[in-house]
Amino acid sequence: MEECIFCKIINKEIPSNIVYEDDEVLAFKDINPQAPVHIIAIPKKHVSSVMETKKTIIADIFDAIQKIAKEQGIDKSGFRVITNCGKDAGQTVNHLHFHILAGANLGEKIV
Ligand code: 5GP
Ligand code: ZN
Repeated sequence: MEECIFCKIINKEIPSNIVYEDDEVLAFKDINPQAPVHIIAIPKKHVSSVMETKKTIIADIFDAIQKIAKEQGIDKSGFRVITNCGKDAGQTVNHLHFHILAGANLGEKIV
């Protein structure tokens, strides 16, 4: 089966700017940033979207997001977490991912 692009990033088959990694989660800078800070956090296990995920994955992701927010210095100023699920949301990569947006007043910004 053809690997998805985010699995290739996990396996270091394609380069990315990694900002966080643990046994379950990888986070890297979005290639097309929509805010001064735009990080993508993903589970290392391939699941396609919110509709396929398990509770443990969500706990791992949000634990990592807390650490990333502190490391990036956006825990106090604030940030937005977005996940797109499916066609109408505009999900373009079918590997569950959470956008972390910060570094400016985000207003109504969506990705
Ligand atoms: P979606 O629209 O599926 O919610 O978001 C996918 C995100 O992945 C987009 O913001 C896009 O810029 C980002 N992205 C797609 N391909 C790559 C890549 O190869 N490297 C990185 N760093 N980000 C990517
Ligand atoms: Zn994948």
